[in-house]
Amino acid sequence: MDSTEFRKRGMEMVEYICNYLETLNERRVTPSVEPGYLRHLLPTEAPQEPEDWDQIMRDVEDKIMPGVTHWQHPRFHAYFPAGNSFPSILGDMLGDGIGCIGFSWAASPACTELETIVLDWLGKAIGLPDHFLALKEGSTGGGVIQTSASECVLVTMLAARAQALKRLKAQHPFVEEGHLLSKLMAYCSKEAHSCVEKAAMICFVKLRILEPDDDASLRGQTIYEAMEEDELQGLVPFFVSTTLGTTGSCAFDNLPEIGKQLQRFPGVWLHVDAAYAGNSFICPELKPLLKVSGWHYHGTANLSQSHLQGIEYADSFNTNPNKWLLTNFDCSTLWVRDRIRLTSALVVDPLYLKHGYSDAAIDYRHWGVPLSRRFRSLKLWFVLRSYGISGLQHYIRHHIKLAKRFEELVLKDKRFEICNQVKLGLVCFRLKGSDKLNEKLLSIINESGKLHMVPASVGDRYIIRFCAVAQNATAEDIDYAWDIIVDFANELLEKEQH
Ligand code: PLP
Repeated sequence: MDSTEFRKRGMEMVEYICNYLETLNERRVTPSVEPGYLRHLLPTEAPQEPEDWDQIMRDVEDKIMPGVTHWQHPRFHAYFPAGNSFPSILGDMLGDGIGCIGFSWAASPACTELETIVLDWLGKAIGLPDHFLALKEGSTGGGVIQTSASECVLVTMLAARAQALKRLKAQHPFVEEGHLLSKLMAYCSKEAHSCVEKAAMICFVKLRILEPDDDASLRGQTIYEAMEEDELQGLVPFFVSTTLGTTGSCAFDNLPEIGKQLQRFPGVWLHVDAAYAGNSFICPELKPLLKVSGWHYHGTANLSQSHLQGIEYADSFNTNPNKWLLTNFDCSTLWVRDRIRLTSALVVDPLYLKHGYSDAAIDYRHWGVPLSRRFRSLKLWFVLRSYGISGLQHYIRHHIKLAKRFEELVLKDKRFEICNQVKLGLVCFRLKGSDKLNEKLLSIINESGKLHMVPASVGDRYIIRFCAVAQNATAEDIDYAWDIIVDFANELLEKEQH
């Protein structure tokens, strides 16, 4: 394809994408295909000769689209949102067009510098303390874009592990490193995302999974007791991963309490995973969630109550603009209080990657696992500039309003119950009745292809999660979704009675 044809095909692709997004509601939300469906539709080998572009695009519509789950569909309410917007798509397109691999400052200075600036912009916008910002006078911290929240948790755990081992080696110079490693203990709540468990597996460290309270919030006393008990057993607490906005029910660990208790265990790294909820802190009235757990949304009047400084205790914080800030995957933002503590766990420095400004500039290859990095800051920069903070605040508030509307609809029907405190865009609900009944309800709804939701287990109960997802979803979309749920519930309850 030469540039003349690319111009033509590029226009057609933009047209295709616009049509796709504008007519999404005419499609099923989820595909109705069986595993292996595509194998029967595509040849077993790549074509020997070039193929016609029109034919390739016909195959997209006829063979690929029938197997796509439409995450941007107005009746997709599963998981958390998959960020998507036109400025972000254009940012990715430009990044792909430039095609640079910005692993070091020298490998593409703008790629590195824009990332640092945009992470400072976003960090300030969501209310992170100054020590997380790279360009603040005297700060040792900074932000970086990772592929996923899982990677953010992994690299912070790796950094914490390296710090802890360094300390232990200094105290016990003749003890084998493998033995010291076997003493390290990480902590998280039962409600933390499974990526914490995966990170512990990769890091070869033990993980103690703790019980949260009845509101699915991990408490300071629980952490304290577990750590004290482990220390008495000769183990070494080194890392705590807390969550603001859990995956199951968007609950908030009690960061002020946990931070306070950790002061009794110097050197333990405190990470805050706010993959979804962190984006909402861009709204002033939601910033207290960054500090005070258990804060309820009553509007800006409550701001003055935010006297506890939860985030001040944290060593690192992550949120995913690719979840709830209109930025396409991948764009998971991580900030650390001390960038040397992060990079010292990850630096390898062969001659072919060195450059004349290694001491003066940031080399993001030392901030994560991969060497090669895409120009991901472009799309976040486009989003922040073209929506402005005010546009993004409007978007977040719109989703919260939709969630509140859904919550009201559920509360009006006495056959249902709400199972979480609806602070942001996630509502957890269930039919009053057994887990089995709710499993059946969700299964028939999802099979219909009319609406898509996923379950979670919170406090050992099966709940159904309904998340506001589509960027331009309306109140009518929410009402329509509720009508579908009620229709299926009526049908199910009637059947159950006979
Ligand atoms: N942490 C939380 C709180 C999440 O909700 C999720 C996913 O939903 C993750 C981590 C994992 O995110 P990622 O897919 O970016 O690794």
